[in-house]
Parts: sequence; structure tokens; C-alpha cells
Amino acid sequence: MRIIFNYLRRFVLTLFGVAGLVFVVIQDSAADAIEELGNGAYLYLNGQHRSLFIVSDAGVIVTDPINEKVAVAYRAAIASITDQPVRFVVYSHYHWDRVSGAAVFKQESAQIVAQKRCAERFRENPNPAVIAPDLTFTDSYTVTLGNRALELYYFGPSHGDCLTVFVAQPSNIMQITDVINPPGAAFPPDPLVPYIRPHNIQQFFAATAGLIDRLGIDEVAASAVFPAGDDATPISPPLAPASIVREQAKFWRLIDATVKRAAAERRVGIDGFVRLRDDEFAAFESYPGYRKEDLPLILRRFIGFHDMGR
Ligand SMILES: [Zn+2]
Repeated sequence: MRIIFNYLRRFVLTLFGVAGLVFVVIQDSAADAIEELGNGAYLYLNGQHRSLFIVSDAGVIVTDPINEKVAVAYRAAIASITDQPVRFVVYSHYHWDRVSGAAVFKQESAQIVAQKRCAERFRENPNPAVIAPDLTFTDSYTVTLGNRALELYYFGPSHGDCLTVFVAQPSNIMQITDVINPPGAAFPPDPLVPYIRPHNIQQFFAATAGLIDRLGIDEVAASAVFPAGDDATPISPPLAPASIVREQAKFWRLIDATVKRAAAERRVGIDGFVRLRDDEFAAFESYPGYRKEDLPLILRRFIGFHDMGR
């Protein structure tokens, strides 16, 4: 893994801009980098986001343009490493914070690809910043371009309704946007977990783990950037061993098991909140990002599923 640009500018700006307008304005133009993963696969890093892209001998496959401003910087960063045109833009899911701003790629005649349910969502809940896909698929699809490809797999609702698992080929690196982020399994940053689809989350992880075994995938790429929490590595790494998927699945199983046990032992209040025992809190303490006050909120989401299937 080689980092093509460096992070120095961003750190300096982060140090100086503790709060306020100066930080926001400067951060927008500064946090920009490309991380090379090998065999034509790269991550484009901007702000808190990382997007996978693939450079082939017949053009470039881009994923998740993020927003209009980032997409322009994304296009310029790609131009700094290849003269190839961008031929495809692939959306990982329907959330606007990942898929807005494809106009810059559409201008050069790139085709936009998304899972069918994403396309439905864009029709029902349109956003002018989100350009509708030209090409949709149901279960799986491979975007092949010259000597490289991006494989797309849909295993049902997980994080939203249409999240698509990416596998870059021939590097055989997986990315599961917003679900898996190196370095390891983690506690969700938003305790309301409105995006989680409890009815299919276990099946989603089982299918993804099966794909990892079938394709012999060793590494999973990040879709987010956050402080690494130590002095040696200032930001979270771009890659993690594929075992991260089963570790994160274990987290959601623990949530599920905690809810079922509380229901069986009649420890769920009329408000739908679990009266948690100390040992139940302790079981989650080791997850990075753990916040004691957030755990009851996450469990509340799953109580709704357990009781009413919603
Ligand atoms: Zn999302």
C-alpha cells in the first residue's frame, strides 16, 4: 500500500482549526488523498469518506462520488494518476452522503450503475444532486473494463435497502460501505441505527462471509476515515483482514442475543427499553466507540424488531 499524496496539510489544519468557520472552509479543500491498494484498485480519500476506484487499460471505474464538490476533486485526483476516461460510476447504496454529485463523471459520458432497489428509492425520494442510474441489477453484476473489473453483490437489506458489496478484481479486495470499517469491528457511531435492517442483517453477514470464503478474499477496504486514536498512525487504516466481517457480525449477534434474553426474562419496560444487567453492558465494553448511554438506544431498535417485526 502506497499513499500518493500526504496527510500533512490536513493535520496542520486540524490542529489549528479547533472550531469555527476557518476549520470548515479549509478542511473542504485540504483533506484529499489517493491510497493505492494494488492491481489497479485505489481509495480516494476526502474528509471522512473513502471511495473505491479502479484504473484499467480501457478506462476508470469510480464508486461513490460523495457530493458535487468532492466529485470534482475526485476527478482531478484520478487525472493525476491516469489519462484514462471515467467510464462507470457505481453507487454502493442510496444514502445521499455517498452518492450525490456524479454530474462531473456523467459529463464525460460515464454510465451510472446501481442495484435496482436504489433506483426505486431515487425515484420515490428524488434529490436533484443524485443522478439516477443508467444500468441496474438485481442479485449480482460485474462491471468489466479492459483488464480489470468491479464485482457487485446484493444480499438483501442490511445498511439501508440496497447496499451492494464490492469486490475489486483482480486485486480481490472487498468493500462494504458504511458497514465494515478497518481496523476492526466497532460500536455504531449513531445509536439510533436508523439505517440497520434487523430482519436481514444476519443473513447479509452470512452471505458476505460465504462470498469471502468462496473468492478467497483476504482484505476488506475502508469507506470511512476517523482518528486512529494513537500517535503512530494518525488516521484509521485503509485495509483490514477479511476476518473483520465475521467480527462485526458477532457484534450484531450479541445485540440480538441480548434483546432475546431480556425479553425472555421480562426485563423490557413498557417503553421498549431493556433494563440491562452490568454483565450485559460489560460484554460490549471492548468494542471501539462503545458508549454506555448509547447501548440501550441500539437495543431499543432491535426490541421493535423482536416485538413487531419492524
Ligand atoms: Zn449509508
